[in-house]
Amino acid sequence: MTGEPKLRNALIAAAAAAVVTAGAVASAPARAAGEVNVYTSRHYDVDAALYKAFEAKTGIKVNVVQGNANALFERLKREGRNSPADILMTVDAGNLGRAQAAGLFQPVKSAAIDKIVPAAYREPGGLWVGLTMRARVIMYHKDRVKPSELSTYEALADPKWKGKILIRSSNSIYNQSLVASLISADGPEKALTWAKALVANMARKPKGGDRDQIRAVGAGEGDIAVSNTYYLGHLTASKNPKDRVLVEKIGVFFPNQAGRGAHVNISGAGVARYARHKAEAIQLLEFLVQKDAQVKYSQANFEYPARPDVPMAKIVAAWGEFKADPINVSELGKLNPEAVKLMDRAGWR
Ligand code: FE
Repeated sequence: MTGEPKLRNALIAAAAAAVVTAGAVASAPARAAGEVNVYTSRHYDVDAALYKAFEAKTGIKVNVVQGNANALFERLKREGRNSPADILMTVDAGNLGRAQAAGLFQPVKSAAIDKIVPAAYREPGGLWVGLTMRARVIMYHKDRVKPSELSTYEALADPKWKGKILIRSSNSIYNQSLVASLISADGPEKALTWAKALVANMARKPKGGDRDQIRAVGAGEGDIAVSNTYYLGHLTASKNPKDRVLVEKIGVFFPNQAGRGAHVNISGAGVARYARHKAEAIQLLEFLVQKDAQVKYSQANFEYPARPDVPMAKIVAAWGEFKADPINVSELGKLNPEAVKLMDRAGWR
């Protein structure tokens, strides 16, 4: 027993040494009011800027560990109760659901967050909360497809699209969540039939990311791509003239507007299971859903704010208003294992 606290302290020190500081040391308060350790798979400059603003406002120091989602989850599992993580942040409700299933979060109550963030973008038990929202939509070549030919995700199964659809692999958590939404809306049998038909309509074996699907549409490899909205935002804002030419050719179509609405997802965060700075962690989450932070967050990556009362970036607003599927995104996480199996059965590489 006597050796245990020593070992534990050594582990904490080792873990803390691995924590990278996000903010600059300049003008840090002489005595920090506290600190908060964030494990995140996000890698945007805006995040660091927001942490800095939080530090300036509260005196609470933000330490950041970056990594891909799976690596962070494995690290948290390995660290167990000795983990220095206070917040775990990642993209997609499918990923958040996986972390949730692995017991990496603890429930928190925040009246401020509940008031601001729509219930559909929060885990009902308070395990995690959405910080930004993105839609997974149809993008079409304006010369080859009329928007009147498009309607729903389900209609992508129509044989008229044979050899014309570009979509990335079934490894993509984005596609897994899209399939989860179809399982929820249409049932597993119809979703499987749909996935098989979609595979039959693919222009090529899935490869690359969402941006590559849009580029392939521009290059004439197919007529329509399925992509998250913000990738088109990045191409629109790109300094590369090639990207600008490409964007001119691409139209955005929000599917299922006469029905449940377009499939949307979030990036989000929750308080880590063994957080030592729980109060500070909640404070940071509450800060990140305030209007100022939400504007910066959504605009930096051309996402939608998680809260509806905040203006969108100009590029994002230009795609128009749309109806979003009102399903609680935590359902997508629950259906993730089923979606993965279904895609495999459908032969979706
Ligand atoms: Fe992405």
